[in-house]
Amino acid sequence: MAEITLKSLAHTYVAKPQSPQDYAIREMTHVWHQGGAYALLGPSGCGKSTLLNIISGLLEPSEGEVLFDGQVVNALPPEARNIAQVFQFPVIYDTMTVYDNLAFPLRNVNTPEQRVRERVTEVADVLELGALLKQKAKNLTADEKQKVSMGRGLVRDDVSAILFDEPLTVIDPQLKWKLRRKLKEIHQRFGITMVYVTHDQLEASTFADKIAVMYEGQVVQFGTPRELFEVPAHTFVGYFIGSPGMNFLEVTVRGRDLYSGDTRIPLDEGLVSAAARSGSNNIKLGIRPEFIDVMHEPGAETLEVEVNRVQDLGTYSIVSCHLGQTPLKVRVEEGQHVEGPRCHVRFVPERVGLYVDEYRVELGQ
Ligand code: ADP
Ligand code: MG
Repeated sequence: MAEITLKSLAHTYVAKPQSPQDYAIREMTHVWHQGGAYALLGPSGCGKSTLLNIISGLLEPSEGEVLFDGQVVNALPPEARNIAQVFQFPVIYDTMTVYDNLAFPLRNVNTPEQRVRERVTEVADVLELGALLKQKAKNLTADEKQKVSMGRGLVRDDVSAILFDEPLTVIDPQLKWKLRRKLKEIHQRFGITMVYVTHDQLEASTFADKIAVMYEGQVVQFGTPRELFEVPAHTFVGYFIGSPGMNFLEVTVRGRDLYSGDTRIPLDEGLVSAAARSGSNNIKLGIRPEFIDVMHEPGAETLEVEVNRVQDLGTYSIVSCHLGQTPLKVRVEEGQHVEGPRCHVRFVPERVGLYVDEYRVELGQ
């Protein structure tokens, strides 16, 4: 097992990169601690697979270093890195039985047959493949094949890390949920560093203790699911995490106040002065739908909004409205009644984030 450090790492697929856009991975330094359960979360094309392949050694980075326990491994091929990787689509030997497929990674490193049997039985048990062990892999369903593929990644307990690249894509939703739990269970049981790539926030937060959110080739935040929700470090994280995502209002500084269009937003003084100090013309306020209250009456801290739609989702509703030109989503709990065409809302002051040039500005205590 190993601590994996990515040091000033960058990667481009372009022969002569001219601008940051030419980089699939923009310069980053990042540490995956030994034994952690991590998710790498981001939309398609943001660089997740590239990063994973650099860690496993399938791809050599154009710049920077990959270190395992402090040793540079850039020049080492995947076999020598002792890493297991599970891909989006099954990688198995069709002509072999399920048992032999699972045994393969162990036999490859000359594991005694008795130990092979123990491990194969254990992993088959967890993945509920026990009844299929004698079958030829080619007769399996797509789901079963992918489970075997995952089993091959999980069977060795002496690897530095196990990397999963969207492994549940081909699995049906019901089984997906179950397998995610299983992976978590396996992580707790064996304590191997796991990095799990996904574009699904729910998948990331059910599996991982800590999530690295990637956007345009960069890790824009590395935090617990709760941190990503409560204090998104970048507007992308605010927007990507949560359902619906965070609301963002473009604001301008006028005197001692912040305005969204012509509407003055009542805010704490500290926040307003931090915005003014930034000198930027890209200032946004971020507020989650969960932290906007609908008020019965107007008051010093309220804003008047135009209600466009109320979507009843059972235990809560999502109110779509507009503050001037800016769309806002507000979450109201069951039993709370919202009537249009206009209503009054209040931003919970300690939940308003200040974003300058897309990054959150910490205001201190
Ligand atoms: P993700 O796994 O997050 O969807 P990838 O790492 O596959 O993202 O891709 C990141 C970026 O690099 C994308 O713009 C993609 O088009 C590009 N890319 C990926 N693989 C290659 C390749 N082999 N050659 C050229 N460009 C590539
Ligand atoms: Mg990918």
